[in-house]
Amino acid sequence: MKGRAIRAWLAAFILCSGLALAAPRPAARPIRALCTTYPIYLFTRAVCQGSPGVAAELMLPSSLGCPHDYVMTPVDMRRLSEADLLVENGLGMEDFLEAPLRKARPRLGVVDSSAGISGLIRMSPEPGAAGGDHHHAGDFNPHLFASPRQAARIVGVLAENFARLDPARAALYRKNAALFAARMNRLADEFKAAAAAFPNKRIVTQHAVFDYLARDSGLSIVAVVEEEPGQAPSAAGMLSIVREIREKKAAAVFTEPQYPAGVGKTVAREAGIPVAVLDPAANGPANAEPSYYEAAMRENLETLKKVLGRR
Ligand SMILES: [Zn+2]
Repeated sequence: MKGRAIRAWLAAFILCSGLALAAPRPAARPIRALCTTYPIYLFTRAVCQGSPGVAAELMLPSSLGCPHDYVMTPVDMRRLSEADLLVENGLGMEDFLEAPLRKARPRLGVVDSSAGISGLIRMSPEPGAAGGDHHHAGDFNPHLFASPRQAARIVGVLAENFARLDPARAALYRKNAALFAARMNRLADEFKAAAAAFPNKRIVTQHAVFDYLARDSGLSIVAVVEEEPGQAPSAAGMLSIVREIREKKAAAVFTEPQYPAGVGKTVAREAGIPVAVLDPAANGPANAEPSYYEAAMRENLETLKKVLGRR
């Protein structure tokens, strides 16, 4: 190919591949950034605070929580059709979106908030083990968002993406992210300091949502109540969880506001250990400020101190 032909081909390729997103935009029209999950929506707004260049929108209902096994609604499809950009959790959390995205918006720009984050936790391949979740063996645990230490890294990934898409405000995105990350890292240090003083650091969670929080804080998750998030185990399954709790000498069971707490309460009572609620901020009020995340995590810290710190 001659030079001119190559250039023409390149231009056509760039236009067709969605890379055109990086082109300058009219100042009056912000980037419509459609965020898949609630925590990613909060983080995106934290990074884009004060910028007229980005309008963040939440795709899934704020009350939903983790979208494991979610099925797209017509409202979701409409939001998808109007978006300039998709901001996602990544690591398989958006499996439900793969086919609709390919069909409806194959060229939509996608920001994966987990891209490049190291130290990912593998999902446990064996049923009944900690970290079991509705995922394929060998997949990475997608719940980075539920650990303030990882939230600090997620906002860094988001800031670099928005800096690239809206270079005129790159400094603002980076400053917002740095401030948010500093708060999250301080909070993560507090989790670690508190957990270091707990006499028993072994806990049971409802689904694999707190694996990063536990690792980053120095806690150890010895069992999960629900292998399939939101689905109660059988009677035999419950007995085996109770047995596991006793054998592994777990200190407490923690349920999540996004799922019914009944099973967690029952196994805790049977095993004779306390039960309390930890909130991964996977869902929450529709109009919450980005600071809602930190408030939810602070409450979790207080809950952990109250439940695990006393014996
Ligand atoms: Zn989940």
